[in-house]
Amino acid sequence: HNRGSFRLIHIKDSAIFFSDIHLDDSSKKDIAYFVSFINNYAKNYPNIFILGDLFDWWPGDDTNQFKKVIALLKQVSNKSKIFFICGNRDYLIGKKFAKKTNITILPDHQLIKLGKEKAIILHGDTLCTDDKKYQRFRKFSRSWISKKGFLLFPKYLKDCIFNFARKKSNYDKSSKNKDIMDVNELAVKKLFNEFNNPPIMIHGHTHRPKIHTYNINGLESKRVVLSDWHESGSFLLWDKGKLKNMKV
Ligand code: MN
Repeated sequence: HNRGSFRLIHIKDSAIFFSDIHLDDSSKKDIAYFVSFINNYAKNYPNIFILGDLFDWWPGDDTNQFKKVIALLKQVSNKSKIFFICGNRDYLIGKKFAKKTNITILPDHQLIKLGKEKAIILHGDTLCTDDKKYQRFRKFSRSWISKKGFLLFPKYLKDCIFNFARKKSNYDKSSKNKDIMDVNELAVKKLFNEFNNPPIMIHGHTHRPKIHTYNINGLESKRVVLSDWHESGSFLLWDKGKLKNMKV
């Protein structure tokens, strides 16, 4: 898939990371909470990394939904750089959205530099290789032909398909073994390896916030899993050479 073809992004001042907000346009409360987070916290930082599943479902760039969020991102992008990695819920975000919001869409796996340390950032679903059914769906749904085909459907059909997929995914989640919903440790090591074992990896998706430590060839690497926003908002801050979990 879409590998880190982008040039290295070097952050020298500070940056924040968040993911899995799962915004739903029909929930005014969710949107208002997110808007206040951006205005009270996020917009004070020069670099904002959104690591996927910002939206519970993105129906395609021609949508009339989420107008407030689009306007807000656009406004914030005047002062801050906003980077976006697509999640499994908003993988249909494309060039038009990027243009409307003035954000930069990154590949699935992106290498960045936080001061002197390199870090891999990603949504995280590519690490869940034990979930064979999902990986098959991922491969199919992200193929060019299936993306193009889906976007040509009328809106009601898109919504219909999505509601079906969401119900099915919730059903699958409740019946699937909990372990296959987490990352596969071999996939984690493979990805660390692919980028020459940087000391940091940051991702979301699993909704299991934690800092995992690895020892790779005598060097310590950290895998920071971001929290979802189900209970309350949070983000990861990189400032003065340190990573810190922040509550909203
Ligand atoms: Mn996800």
